[in-house]
Amino acid sequence: MSRFFHPKFKALSPYAPGEQPLDRPFVKLNTNESPFPPAPGVLEAVTKAVPRLNLYPDNNCAGLRNAMAARYQVESDQVFLGNGSDEILAFCFQGFCPDGAAYADISYGFYPVYAQFYQIKSQVIPLAEDFTVRPNNYVGLEKTIFIANPNAPTGLALPRDEIASILHWNRSSLVVVDEAYVDFGAESVVPLVNDYDNLLVVGTFSKSRSLAGGRLGYAIGNSSVISDLKLIKYSFNPYNINSLTQAAATAAVQDEDYFCECTRKIIKTRAHAQQVLRKMGFFCTDSSANFIFATHPKIPAEQIHHRLRDAGVLVRWFNKPRISNHLRITVGSDQEMEILYEALDLAVKTI
Ligand SMILES: *Cc1c(COP(=O)(O)O)cnc(C)c1O
Repeated sequence: MSRFFHPKFKALSPYAPGEQPLDRPFVKLNTNESPFPPAPGVLEAVTKAVPRLNLYPDNNCAGLRNAMAARYQVESDQVFLGNGSDEILAFCFQGFCPDGAAYADISYGFYPVYAQFYQIKSQVIPLAEDFTVRPNNYVGLEKTIFIANPNAPTGLALPRDEIASILHWNRSSLVVVDEAYVDFGAESVVPLVNDYDNLLVVGTFSKSRSLAGGRLGYAIGNSSVISDLKLIKYSFNPYNINSLTQAAATAAVQDEDYFCECTRKIIKTRAHAQQVLRKMGFFCTDSSANFIFATHPKIPAEQIHHRLRDAGVLVRWFNKPRISNHLRITVGSDQEMEILYEALDLAVKTI
């Protein structure tokens, strides 16, 4: 740390992204990216946008916001776009937590990081023994609530009516529902945004839309909450979405067929993968996401993680309380999964 750095950042413990190694080819099942290329129309859309790279992007993102509004059946002033949903979550911690934040003990790793970064007091609510979120623990909290649905890294989802009850019992608090994985089989609460002005739904193009490298996230909610987000954006980085990403994402969101085909494939492969893993003795949660969350009663997850890495397969292992004996395995293409099964089988038999 240099002598110029602000002392308030001395104790920061940053988010640890899953590794993106370049030294050798890996089967990458560690960061929940899509194994499929972006929608076919994306290449042409980006190519067409290249000659205008000398100009700043549209800070209003008008074309993309209109396409999003049409896709999600809301008004375009109910849509906000961010440089990844991480940026939007950061804005939420920064702007909407005057009375603190509340989130589950096991959830997206960035919530505690942002809380620390913006010096926000947090109420950490333990998941039940079976890793489920209990809506009864989310009544009258009087602080901003963050819920990943489906949750990460468990993959478990709450049905829409249970989120509605949390919204109902916390009318005076903003409830941010992080739907990064919703397209893989859970119920979105976007249809509730006109019923609850305290709801902000956050989503991403990084998983179901095959655009992790483009960095695009969205928020859908009440237009006054969206205006607040815009105020933060225009006070920080008005050009937060580059023009290539605006072009790519507009093409992606307009291709509903390709989106459905990709998410259907992941759901099918996930079901098969869970069968295979259970036959090997693993316990898996009932995941509604594009990953599997698994533990083996006899073999430590850390060892399996290392063995898989040696075999050229990356999965995620979190050295954290309650989940240190679990692995989070992204659902890849069928070929990638075959390589995983072989490596896992060998690991389980020889550890
Ligand atoms: C991947 C993920 C995000 C971040 O997505 P980006 O749009 O790539 O920043 C947000 N929330 C959860 C729960 C995620 O898993």
